[in-house]
Amino acid sequence: MGVMKTKEDIELTENEAKELWENARKHLPSHQVVISETIFQKAGSHKICWICGDDKDLYLLTVETNEGKRINAIMCKDCMTIQASMGLKIIDAKKIK
Ligand SMILES: [Zn+2]
Repeated sequence: MGVMKTKEDIELTENEAKELWENARKHLPSHQVVISETIFQKAGSHKICWICGDDKDLYLLTVETNEGKRINAIMCKDCMTIQASMGLKIIDAKKIK
């Protein structure tokens, strides 16, 4: 899969991850927002995979929504691979340190 290539690892703070979420949630389906916010509450962090809650092997993604809007999302490698195979348009992926 060619989309998994990353140029350089990036640093991301919890505050930055939370800001990314506050922006992204407006563009996500409401069931996904509920699932992710439950995960954040349990983990006490937004710097985890927004889909499964993993805190290892994280990537900062730029993805394109169905409406053609570009948003950032944090996913682990497994979820990124699954979502990509389900048709998620990944514009960019950077590994988080
Ligand atoms: Zn995951």
